[in-house]
Amino acid sequence: MERDVLKENYNQVRENIRQACLRSRRSIDEVTLIAVSKTKPISMIQHGIELGMTNFGENKPQEIRDKCAEITAVVQWHMIGHLQKNKIKYIVPNCSLIHSVDSIELARNIQAVAEKKECHVHILLQMNVSGEKSKQGFTVETVEQALESISQLSHVHVQGLMTIAPYVANSEQNRHLFRQLNELYIDIKSKNIDNVSMNVLSMGMTGDYEVAIEEGATHIRVGTGLFGQREQKNNKTGR
Ligand SMILES: *Cc1c(COP(=O)(O)O)cnc(C)c1O
Repeated sequence: MERDVLKENYNQVRENIRQACLRSRRSIDEVTLIAVSKTKPISMIQHGIELGMTNFGENKPQEIRDKCAEITAVVQWHMIGHLQKNKIKYIVPNCSLIHSVDSIELARNIQAVAEKKECHVHILLQMNVSGEKSKQGFTVETVEQALESISQLSHVHVQGLMTIAPYVANSEQNRHLFRQLNELYIDIKSKNIDNVSMNVLSMGMTGDYEVAIEEGATHIRVGTGLFGQREQKNNKTGR
């Protein structure tokens, strides 16, 4: 992709964020744009950095490790894809935030790696609010117990919730899911659980980030809208 096109896309996305914030009477400072650079080359990330992007999302641990090693600018890396136990070592401590913690066991495994490497790891709990069987994540029913267990871990710190909404033709169809997750987020926050802070609500992708912002997203994850279509072969989990 040409640098000019990336710049245009970036400006457009930022304008859309601004408009969504205006509509919902939110400050744009409340919304962090995560540029989802999975499958995209280092050169494109460099262009993004030059344009002012500071947060990047990836879904493969080795890709984060490799890109981290090459990019010297100070940027935040977000792990947004399904994480396997044996790959945790690649992203701890490189990654600022792991969005995709979908089981208590995974959190315990992250704790083990963090303890060994003597670092602290910030995570989000991935929520399956749509109830789709194919989707990973905690449900409204299971999240409470998860918080109870995970909050006990000394090197793992829950910062909030994340969800991947279904692919829909009209983003309005996901509004109720975003609203429901925001309600849960506020509810958990009000409980003031030790070692659990609720200040990140990661929801909204290219197709629905404006609706997600209107419903309270603090972090949106935009790939296609910035970098264009991804190669199909690498697109298994990324649609
Ligand atoms: C790929 C991916 C995104 C970005 O998707 P786009 O539709 O390209 O914006 C966001 N979140 C997750 C979890 C992803 O895997």
